[in-house]
Amino acid sequence: MSVPVRYYCPRCKTIVTLQRAGRLADKSVTPVPLEGWSYADIDGDYEPADGVRIVCGESQTDGEGCGEPYYLNFVRFEAGREIEPVPESERVTLASDGPRRPSSPDEPDQSL
Ligand SMILES: [Zn+2]
Repeated sequence: MSVPVRYYCPRCKTIVTLQRAGRLADKSVTPVPLEGWSYADIDGDYEPADGVRIVCGESQTDGEGCGEPYYLNFVRFEAGREIEPVPESERVTLASDGPRRPSSPDEPDQSL
């Protein structure tokens, strides 16, 4: 039993309509693939995949689209627990967050 489900492109907000099984649980839509997820083509078989690779602007979209791929991610379970993705973008955010400059009263400030 498949149902039409609409998603927005994370880049340009163009709507895409997919025919998919209603029992599959969506997790997120991301502009990059999640590590460990395998993706089906938009007209492929979604059941064995962990998500769908959507190309914005192709036949399933209602509007113009930006032509860039994005990814619908299904919820994945392993041994009854939901798997949390580790997207590349999150790592980049973490890496660029530090190192924090410690406040040190002993640090000499004689650069002038
Ligand atoms: Zn788009």
